[in-house]
Amino acid sequence: MREVIALKCSKCGNKNYYTTKNKDKKAKLVLKKYCPKCNTHTEHQETKA
Ligand SMILES: [Zn+2]
Repeated sequence: MREVIALKCSKCGNKNYYTTKNKDKKAKLVLKKYCPKCNTHTEHQETKA
């Protein structure tokens, strides 16, 4: 079972990416992604879509 999640910019809180992940994995995803609002790469944290 895969769960849809959003990836949220840790600086501005913008939800920039949507993806799915395996529900079995308990650890929260943190990825460096480009944020168009911050106009730079920031850490994006998993949040509810
Ligand atoms: Zn941002």
